[in-house]
Amino acid sequence: MPYDADLLCQIGNTPLIELTNLDTAPCRLFVKLESRNPSGSIKDRAALSMVRAAERDGLLRPGGHLVEATAGNTGLALALLAAHRGYRLTLVIPDKAGLDKVSHLRAMGAEVVLARSDVPRRHPEHYQNVASRLAGETGAHFIDQFNNPANPAAHEDGTGPELWEQMGGRVDAVVAGAGSGGTLTGLSRFFARRSPATEMVLADPRGSVLADYVRTGRVGEAGSWLVEGIGGDSIPMVSDFSRVTRAYSVSDRESFATARLVLRIEGLLVGSSSGTLLAAALRYCREQTAPKRVATLVCDAGNRHLSRLHDESWLADQGLLQRDEHGDLRDLIS
Ligand code: PMP
Repeated sequence: MPYDADLLCQIGNTPLIELTNLDTAPCRLFVKLESRNPSGSIKDRAALSMVRAAERDGLLRPGGHLVEATAGNTGLALALLAAHRGYRLTLVIPDKAGLDKVSHLRAMGAEVVLARSDVPRRHPEHYQNVASRLAGETGAHFIDQFNNPANPAAHEDGTGPELWEQMGGRVDAVVAGAGSGGTLTGLSRFFARRSPATEMVLADPRGSVLADYVRTGRVGEAGSWLVEGIGGDSIPMVSDFSRVTRAYSVSDRESFATARLVLRIEGLLVGSSSGTLLAAALRYCREQTAPKRVATLVCDAGNRHLSRLHDESWLADQGLLQRDEHGDLRDLIS
């Protein structure tokens, strides 16, 4: 039974800070530090909501078994919950995932099954199809965040009201990315009821189909991108982008440079998806002619990204940094 001071009580109620050193033109930019959740990312909220819904609906009983398809923060969040609640957890992840991720998940107690990463979504060996099949064969509960309504509900009932309260009921725009779309969908639903004038803005990695879908209603060909946790090559079933009025496509270069800039001048060590969100939020702020109060999120912290986003040789290898005349590495945009 929930206890009012256990680890799970630390999920949500994250701090909100204002970024005061960045040039935000006539606007004020606030960020909600979702990196402060116990497993380190915004996905703790969705994981808790999805596990609670399964328990409530009798789909998950004491000692039960959970299966999910994820290489990312959802896996870590579920591992924390599984440990705390005494469930067995199997995560199916694409075999291109880094070794450090696999070790982190295993260290957290998850069983990791590697699936082919070179096959399209409809292929039976695609990691999401492997997870669904595995759950069916073993009688485990498939969390299925891309189709699970308890995922956006976590943000409609938690993230949205908290943000509203912390901003003193004055929010002109919310900038968010979309992986499963849970965050943006839940926030959209909350603001549709509480403050319909609040503008919902999508921050999307260049190469993802989501920004174009918001602008045109069409799903194009996906490219590739290095930012982790957001963007997609199809529209997640659980997502609803109908209230999104603006969408920015942000290049890896701009996302990574923004994350590094925020570290340099604000002292905030953020992950790559936060770089995309902050880049889009800054673009939005600078396009305004009247002062606005803009909110965005730090989805996870940069210490999960030290060997990529925060490693200069890796960035140089990816062509995202260049050497200046003294041989020092410099961001291509700043
Ligand atoms: N940022 C990071 C770092 C993530 O791991 C995720 C989830 N994949 C998101 C943002 C997007 O969240 P959502 O799934 O709610 O769209």
